[in-house]
Amino acid sequence: MGKLAITGGDKTRINTFPDYPYISEEDKKYILNALESGRWARTAQDSNTTCKLNSGYIEKLELCFSKMQKTKYALAVSSGTAALEIALQTIGLEKGDEVIVTPYTFISSVSCILKIGGKPIFADIDEATWNISPKSIEDCISKKTRAIVLVHFAGQLVDFNAIHNIAKTYNLILISDAAHAINSKWNEKTPGQLSDICCFSLQSSKNLTCGEGGILVTNKKDYYEKAYSIHMCGRKFNGKWYEYSTLGSNYRMTEFQAAVAVAQLKSNNKYEQIRYKNAIYLIDKMKDIEGIEPTRTLWQARMRDYHLFTFSYNKEYFQGLSRKRFILALNCEGIPCDEGYGSPLYRVPILPQTGNNECPITEIICKQAVWIHQNVLLGTYEDMDDIILGIKKIQTYCYEISN
Ligand SMILES: *Cc1c(COP(=O)(O)O)cnc(C)c1O
Repeated sequence: MGKLAITGGDKTRINTFPDYPYISEEDKKYILNALESGRWARTAQDSNTTCKLNSGYIEKLELCFSKMQKTKYALAVSSGTAALEIALQTIGLEKGDEVIVTPYTFISSVSCILKIGGKPIFADIDEATWNISPKSIEDCISKKTRAIVLVHFAGQLVDFNAIHNIAKTYNLILISDAAHAINSKWNEKTPGQLSDICCFSLQSSKNLTCGEGGILVTNKKDYYEKAYSIHMCGRKFNGKWYEYSTLGSNYRMTEFQAAVAVAQLKSNNKYEQIRYKNAIYLIDKMKDIEGIEPTRTLWQARMRDYHLFTFSYNKEYFQGLSRKRFILALNCEGIPCDEGYGSPLYRVPILPQTGNNECPITEIICKQAVWIHQNVLLGTYEDMDDIILGIKKIQTYCYEISN
């Protein structure tokens, strides 16, 4: 029996970290209101104008998002994936058009391009931030490039200054996948303000959740009307109920989802602050652990909504202990963490081989990444100290398991 919990020693920590989401009286009240209202979704009775007046939870949620994001329009839909699919269809992407995207993301950021016949082109990430690298974007541009899908990984916004310059030079459309970045700001600006269309997810793991759900925001009236139509089975915006203007699908959100999202929004800022403070605390404490390198945050992106706390693990400082064993040892100490995506998306077998799969930084990060999820960041400073203690303990006694 050794010192480390994985070899039978005492655990660093016995208590669990906070469970998310937190359920409030407001959640219960609003969902009951939605139920009793009898209007459970957008219906034939809601013309596009009267539904605004009806002001159910769907419309309230949209209003909240357009205020938060400082955009003219917001559209609530069934999921973040739906929002992305709608976005790519809204910009009128055509077969063979190329869209630049990071390979270090969830599959929906790429499947939305493929769904309508576009071709994803993978640009490498930046070693320090793990977000798409502007330099790599420029290397991927061709005559067929139409747009960039910007994934704000772990809540950190991409380098918008550099990317706006590129978009302007090459006339590219910017779609944000802000599933991780609901409260993040670039200086004072929101990702919604800085993108042509910006998509959010309210899925259960996200910082703001109602189980499943998505929101799309934009400042462009024509995009909004087209997106509205697509999410409504292609019904013409402000048209008759059985009048169609495009090929759409049913991407609608229900009132139940919206009711929970509106209720959860009330404490959204409070939890964002807690996660932020804890992340800063962790970064500071990790400074003196060799081989542990937290992801760096660009100063313009300092208002970062931490969806994940991420760091790279260098086994050379842990006597060659593999990342897999390190994570398992840390889990045994009572600290939840995992390896994240594990592989660049161009290696996912069901995705068509696009021919460009040379993203060396992504390859390295996929091998070194360690993720701590947002619910863990909702703990106290003492909880954060346990994370540090656990890592230091493994560093001290790694000879027990590194062989
Ligand atoms: C969660 C997520 C999505 C998809 O959102 P869903 O609401 O689950 O469909 C898209 N992109 C990223 C980066 C995500 O993490």
